[in-house]
Amino acid sequence: MSEPDVAIIGAGPAGLIAAERLAEAGHSVAIYERMPSPARKFLLAGRGGLNLTHSEPLDALLDRYGEARAWLEPAIRAFPPQALRDWADGLEAQSFVGSSGRVFPKAMKASPLLRAWLARLDGLGVRLLPGRLWTGWDENGALRFALRDGSIETVLPGATLLALGGASWPRLGSDGSWVERLEQQGVTIAPLRPANAGFTVAWSPVMRERFAGQPLKRIALSFAGRRVMGEAMLDADGIEGGAIYALSGPLREAIDRDGHADLAIDLRPDLDVGALSARLERRRAGETLSNHLRKAAGLSQVAVAVLREAAGGLLPGEAGALAALIKAAPLRLTGTAPIARAISTAGGIVADEVDADFMLKRLPGVFVAGEMLDWEAPTGGYLLQACFATGVVAAEGIGRFLNTRHARA
Ligand SMILES: Cc1cc2nc3c(=O)[nH]c(=O)nc-3n(C[C@H](O)[C@H](O)[C@H](O)COP(=O)(O)OP(=O)(O)OC[C@H]3O[C@@H](n4cnc5c(N)ncnc54)[C@H](O)[C@@H]3O)c2cc1C
Repeated sequence: MSEPDVAIIGAGPAGLIAAERLAEAGHSVAIYERMPSPARKFLLAGRGGLNLTHSEPLDALLDRYGEARAWLEPAIRAFPPQALRDWADGLEAQSFVGSSGRVFPKAMKASPLLRAWLARLDGLGVRLLPGRLWTGWDENGALRFALRDGSIETVLPGATLLALGGASWPRLGSDGSWVERLEQQGVTIAPLRPANAGFTVAWSPVMRERFAGQPLKRIALSFAGRRVMGEAMLDADGIEGGAIYALSGPLREAIDRDGHADLAIDLRPDLDVGALSARLERRRAGETLSNHLRKAAGLSQVAVAVLREAAGGLLPGEAGALAALIKAAPLRLTGTAPIARAISTAGGIVADEVDADFMLKRLPGVFVAGEMLDWEAPTGGYLLQACFATGVVAAEGIGRFLNTRHARA
């Protein structure tokens, strides 16, 4: 097999989009993937509808990347949400904006899009080589792959793109084992941590037994000066869901620092304390407090249980105190759920290690893209948006790198 101009390692969205761009530019491209088939996490993302990107104004979207905004901004401006939608629509995705501003393909899953994408790559002559685990470089600087039959394959391409993903859901292929290999080359990597993850809560036995698996809908969560609307899901050991994920960065950092994080849950974000208090004032004789809370304050059974938990079992009888508790029920989070169960990964290759084309400064000719870079963002399409954009920009950089080398030769 001839050596490709470009070896792309990792057949997730970042690697596949880079392969497409490079093949379109006339380069020979081979994609090496450890799993028997490509893009398993992308397919899993499709189970939740495949939220490709977000339709909010670009400035607001860029803010979702927090401290990494300045680093990612040139890439996202080079391949903004509309470019991502146009690309997906070119593969018959018929993307649309959902009520929350999130962008989805009409099919609300990834498989049709992936099928069309792989056919396009095949048509462009991209070679997809599954079942190859990248294990580093040999003494000649060639990429080394372990095959399932125990044999070793080496490849010496003109340039390499590492698009190996983060470390969440490791059974889908991305397990962060690249960290050690790059650290051996002197590359600084911020520790990989769970992002968009759940948290543990020391629920009482009643909560565990009766309310695990139940959603808290239309709530607002506040932590460290930030307030997010959404919903959360209780489980036997903790809490997860969209509103929790949106705060997962600051919550994780607080738990790392203090051993816990105290969240405030607003169970009726649409009513203020005064209005709630007025509703709660008149309780019918003989009515249980739980029924009164359900009828007068419109709380679900699980919301009442969370309120009791917050009050340590005994709810206040006075309407004003009850209303205040409903608006800010405290919940102590005691730990971060393991990265294996997180949606995404924080940490990764730090910004200082790469140039503007995402080439590793210490390893000329080796580029990096996608979730293996040190950024995090909430759910809402921001993860795929950044993976696609960094893949596109790395591909452009690889093209320039190869052309410069070619011109010199
Ligand atoms: C349940 C779930 C739902 C999600 N939903 C959404 C969503 O709706 N919207 C959104 O924006 N994001 C979503 N995400 C996140 C999104 O899927 C990821 O951010 C994205 O797939 C990362 O792309 P990537 O190309 O960087 O890495 P990956 O998709 O992880 O791909 C990396 C590839 O590299 C391969 N690989 C790793 N190590 C090696 C090695 N040593 N040798 C060879 N191959 C290797 C892996 O097998 C994998 O195929 C979701 C994630 C999860 C877990």
